[in-house]
Amino acid sequence: MATRIAIIGGGPAGHTCATYAARLGAEVTLIERDIIGGAAHLWDCVPSKAMIGTGGAVSFLNRISGMGLDDVVPKVEHEGLRDRVTYIENCLGNSVTNLLISQQVRLISGEARMIGLNEVEVIFNEQADENSTKVANKTSEVIKADYVVLATGSRPRVPNWAEPDGERVLTTRHAYPPPEIPKHLVVIGSGVTGVEFVHMFASFGAEVTLIVSRQQVLPNKDPEVAAALEENFIGRGVKLFMGARANKVEVIGDCVWVQCDDGRTAVGSHALLAIGSVPNSDGLGLEEAGIKTENGYVVVDHNLRSSLPHVYAAGDLSGKLPLSSVASMQGRKIAEHIMGLHVRPHKHMDYDKAASAIFTEPEIADVGLVEADAFAEGRKVRVTKVPFSVSAKALINNDTRGFVKIISDPATGVILGGSIVGRHAAELISVLALAVNASLTVVDIANSLLVHPALSELLAEAAE
Ligand SMILES: Cc1cc2nc3c(=O)[nH]c(=O)nc-3n(C[C@H](O)[C@H](O)[C@H](O)COP(=O)(O)OP(=O)(O)OC[C@H]3O[C@@H](n4cnc5c(N)ncnc54)[C@H](O)[C@@H]3O)c2cc1C
Repeated sequence: MATRIAIIGGGPAGHTCATYAARLGAEVTLIERDIIGGAAHLWDCVPSKAMIGTGGAVSFLNRISGMGLDDVVPKVEHEGLRDRVTYIENCLGNSVTNLLISQQVRLISGEARMIGLNEVEVIFNEQADENSTKVANKTSEVIKADYVVLATGSRPRVPNWAEPDGERVLTTRHAYPPPEIPKHLVVIGSGVTGVEFVHMFASFGAEVTLIVSRQQVLPNKDPEVAAALEENFIGRGVKLFMGARANKVEVIGDCVWVQCDDGRTAVGSHALLAIGSVPNSDGLGLEEAGIKTENGYVVVDHNLRSSLPHVYAAGDLSGKLPLSSVASMQGRKIAEHIMGLHVRPHKHMDYDKAASAIFTEPEIADVGLVEADAFAEGRKVRVTKVPFSVSAKALINNDTRGFVKIISDPATGVILGGSIVGRHAAELISVLALAVNASLTVVDIANSLLVHPALSELLAEAAE
């Protein structure tokens, strides 16, 4: 009999696990209560990047005057923006669903929870997705499984001092697109999500105020990288409330008042909460099943197994690195582990070597060791930095802002990490990510014959 796997949650972790496990011969059931593709498609990565893409086009048009072109003044159209987000979501959702169907994964539209060690109960959605299989005349079904994969993701954290209404006080779930383009948006939280919102709405012409609880935006990033972003925000007229913690959000008439603990108040037309997320672990039957959690996240070992060896957790619920790319890779690793591929040489996930990007202007990306951390640890490293202004392609692009920084081992030349600030940083970082993951040296990069003119030449220069 084939190995039976029940997966709860159809985001990147769940659907990737389902595809791989089915490909490896398992009989897979995937249960999703909203849409296949998960929050990543519905509220997070996909719509945010779709809207940032529009913002990027606006920024580009605002910079064409130095390229021998007349000025164009773009106007963001709310309805068009919404259609674009929906179109991209549908394209991606359909392609994931078709892939799952082609692998004979059974899809069920409904809410699931564990009701026994090897049993998952599904309450069917009344309006099931057309691809969902449900038992006729029944409202629920119990699925028996040899293995259970929990991939239920996370949702925005809502503090007790703010009440999101979806009209003026928003979380990321209300913002793609928002009910209207705000005249003045107050963004609370300066992590990755917060700064992406600042960039997006500033590009759309909104006034923006950012509440920054520390003395640096992106508190976990290299200070030089964060400073480049702060400088850009200030240049675009974004007001920064540094070292201020919001502690009250109140709607008065058409305005939102955001009070901070240092006595300052930011007043805007809308406020957006971007202060982290909480795991979707309530109501999953974890405690009853004896699955250990910490602050709601499932505690997992290096194979992503929970305290019950046949139950795995992946994606945001695993409390590791909340990135879609990481969630997908975890899903794949779980499929391989369940199906016995781990007896072959099997690399565990090394979260310290995951590349990540921030889709702001300038774009930011990094991987591996950060210069500031190396310094704090007293570790000897070689740091080489090259500005975008030396690149022919950057000049051609009419955008010479930014730099490439490579951190390597001074004795061996092995590349330990790197940061890129500037256009296409999210694409360029893949070369450094490969180098960090494959322990390549600066000489390997410097000796590669790259394209000219291309921004990637900056990597070879920084590696010299
Ligand atoms: C605004 C924003 C932008 C982001 N941008 C990026 C980005 O650019 N790049 C990147 O790598 N990461 C990004 N992320 C992070 C990324 O979205 C998450 O890390 C990723 O979605 C996690 O995938 P997942 O599979 O764990 O969960 P999700 O994508 O959250 O999917 C979980 C699914 O489980 C379902 N579910 C939950 N409970 C049940 C239940 N009981 N029964 C049935 N179904 C259930 C949910 O409906 C959901 O569809 C962003 C996050 C945010 C908030």
